Amino acid sequence: MPDFIPYGRQSIDEADIKAVCDTLRSDYLTQGPVVSEFENAMAALSDCKFGVATNSATSALHVACLALGVAAGDYVWTTPNTFIASANCALYCNTSIDFVDIDPITYNLCPEQLERKLIEAKKSNTLPKVIIPVHFAGHPCDMQALARLADTYKFKIIEDASHAVGAKYQEKPVGSQYSDICIFSFHPVKVMTSAEGGMAVTNNPKLAKKMHCLANQGITRAPQDLNEPSPGGWYYEQQSLGFNYRMTELQAALGLSQLNKLHLFIEQRRDLAQNYYKLLRHLPIRLPGEATYASSSWHLFPILLPEALIEKREQVFTALREAGIGTQVHYIPVHTQPYFQKLGFQWGDFPISEDYYFRTLSLPLFPALTLDDQERVVAVLSNAIDKACIG
Ligand SMILES: *Cc1c(COP(=O)(O)O)cnc(C)c1O
Repeated sequence: MPDFIPYGRQSIDEADIKAVCDTLRSDYLTQGPVVSEFENAMAALSDCKFGVATNSATSALHVACLALGVAAGDYVWTTPNTFIASANCALYCNTSIDFVDIDPITYNLCPEQLERKLIEAKKSNTLPKVIIPVHFAGHPCDMQALARLADTYKFKIIEDASHAVGAKYQEKPVGSQYSDICIFSFHPVKVMTSAEGGMAVTNNPKLAKKMHCLANQGITRAPQDLNEPSPGGWYYEQQSLGFNYRMTELQAALGLSQLNKLHLFIEQRRDLAQNYYKLLRHLPIRLPGEATYASSSWHLFPILLPEALIEKREQVFTALREAGIGTQVHYIPVHTQPYFQKLGFQWGDFPISEDYYFRTLSLPLFPALTLDDQERVVAVLSNAIDKACIG
């Protein structure tokens, strides 16, 4: 039996191990200089002024919503084609969540559908306070189109760039323009890792300060921010209800070390995507593209089976898995999860996301994947599709 090829995995080298071990021997395991260094480095990467490190992207999404004032009675909209965390962050704030269906070409939140939904929402006075576009698979959303609508309809934008560390929109880093806050994930399957970990970047000093405070129990120590004059050096104030969402020094050391290799990871992922293009050309499947405004970080390589094979997706999935190929499905549309059905959503609400879901499979893609691995993936896939076509 050949080795199992997962759909994604981290690349850890000796420099990463040394960085974490050095931190273990240092004075700080949490909240030391390396966390700040990582925050500054992620801000610089994103052409932003501020970075706020958190223990996960989910936490970053939560404090981002809170910092933008999302509260009971508000509406937050995102895409159904995402990991559940993009929607749950709104529910943590006791708001109503809703979705905007995807563009069938990019699989990202569709600006035209968004505009139609905004026109209706304006009539019923239910305009969203925040929209969370997700750069699915590492391919940036059309941010300029979204920002134009944000201007007209007065909503804020949080980019969920969990898949898109290192991706570019209009040749600039994601998060650098057209949004209020951009968040990243450093989970091991993502583009670079800090084990668990997330980051919010912004150019707005007030939002950065609020997010820092909320991620650390709502505590502030800065003399100019205190309600009461400080009676001494021990003093701090809790001014809002925050959380312990802090990133550790160990995680930051790993993240910072990984960041040194980000350009290499992206280059490798882009090369692997090009290999897949060549190897998959002859198959009757739709390959993920790249819009003229986008330079993808290629977190995922989602293929789409033809309509005629919708009923055979499970058969193809199982054939790949049985041959040791860790294909996955990204994503089960969020609105169809039982928890969201309890909130009133149903199958049929967002048909493009649902059709996409029935047909998609993500092929393995990570920096250490070899051309031999890719050829093996394609041979098995090709065979499975042939069989599916016959019977
Ligand atoms: C992974 C992911 C998250 C959550 O990231 P964590 O760091 O695991 O909390 C959020 N949104 C999207 C789109 C993701 O893929």
